[in-house]
Amino acid sequence: EAYLSAIDTANEKLNAYVAVTHDKARAMAKASDEKIARGEAGALEGIPLGIKDLFATQDVHTQAASHILDGFRPKYESTVTANLWADGAVMLGKLNMDEFAMGSSNETSYYGPVINPWRAEGSNADLVPGGSSGGSAAAVAALLCAGATATDTGGSIRQPAAFTGTVGIKPTYGRCSRWGTVAFASSLDQAGPIARDVRDAAILLKSMASVDDRDTTSVDLPVPDYEAAIGRSVKGMKIGIPREYRLDGMPEEIEALWKQGIDWMRDAGAEIVDISLPHTKYALPAYYIVAPAEASSNLARYDGVRYGLRVPGKDIADMYEQTRAAGFGREVKRRIMIGTYVLSAGYYDAYYLKAQKVRTLIKRDFEQVFDQGVDAILTPATPSAAFGVADQEMASDPVKMYLNDIFTVTVNMAGLPGIAVPAGLDAKGLPLGLQLIGKPFEEETLFRTAHVIE
Ligand code: GLN
Repeated sequence: EAYLSAIDTANEKLNAYVAVTHDKARAMAKASDEKIARGEAGALEGIPLGIKDLFATQDVHTQAASHILDGFRPKYESTVTANLWADGAVMLGKLNMDEFAMGSSNETSYYGPVINPWRAEGSNADLVPGGSSGGSAAAVAALLCAGATATDTGGSIRQPAAFTGTVGIKPTYGRCSRWGTVAFASSLDQAGPIARDVRDAAILLKSMASVDDRDTTSVDLPVPDYEAAIGRSVKGMKIGIPREYRLDGMPEEIEALWKQGIDWMRDAGAEIVDISLPHTKYALPAYYIVAPAEASSNLARYDGVRYGLRVPGKDIADMYEQTRAAGFGREVKRRIMIGTYVLSAGYYDAYYLKAQKVRTLIKRDFEQVFDQGVDAILTPATPSAAFGVADQEMASDPVKMYLNDIFTVTVNMAGLPGIAVPAGLDAKGLPLGLQLIGKPFEEETLFRTAHVIE
């Protein structure tokens, strides 16, 4: 009840929830009370969570924050949310996001922008919470849920976590089932939690992760007790500092934060080593070929026949055209056009195939570093703190917006786990985050090292 009334008070301003499931929340909480009374509490019994609108929730609003999915109420539940409910969690509602998870500011949502609960000192200007999981991050930061599900294709868990002073982990590709999660770029998409601290993130991920027959890319490995990794010493661990992440013109505050993080790790007994990931500079351009290519294919299914919106036309081809023209927003259309172009017969080799080769090289860079005994890599999470809503520079130049992902996309391209953890405030009092990157399926290392920083 406390969370529901907090949402009823604050959501009008923050716009973090696109649907609040009051009745369902109360029914689930009551069932949890009964289970607790019977001594049958699950790991998350009675814990109220917000769910990103990308996850299919049975008979509940699931629209990926898009007009084209108007009225879509799936008849099935995503594996990730089913796992959470099986452990006793309670659903508060569905969280706002960038349309189809395409964006870095939560401004591409059909439902309008989410407002970051943080304010710069001496200013009352609205800031973005980051994206695409902006609703998840803002809701956690504003105490409108105890934790939230999110997804990350190029940074959408870690960048909003950094912008809101919360913890977000993108697990290794394959750790969580993608079944029932609306697809953006299938070879990059992964679900993960956004939470108030590292321990909460560890507890949530433990529930979300599982192998699943319905997603053949999910991996059949035991899910460790992540919580147990927290507080274990990092003494003797090797932490790599990649020289290619030292960007020209990087704000001094980000540089200073990174140095502070290095000092904390060293003070805790870790060994700091300089490393090189030579193909880093190609990651962002390659991502913005691979991700739109997969998106253009995945989004072909929204045709006015099977889901949501239908705008009538003269004939069926006209109906498709009218529906897609009215149903998709600008950024989604841009991605579909780029993706269709790079996959077209004349350009496939020059763009898509080349980007896939670059992706292999990026993956090898990391493999070599881990082969040299590095346990985790420490970098900034974002190149800046949260920026203003309707920022002119970002709005007029999509490439500027894409630069937000500079430190996060490599992790998705290589399929590795990455965590963003709050590490300090900038001169205006806004949160800044650091990122730790780990070996495949070694999320435990991330919880352990991130806890030193938080
Ligand atoms: N900002 C990136 C994009 O727009 C990443 C989004 C995401 O991780 N879903 O593609």
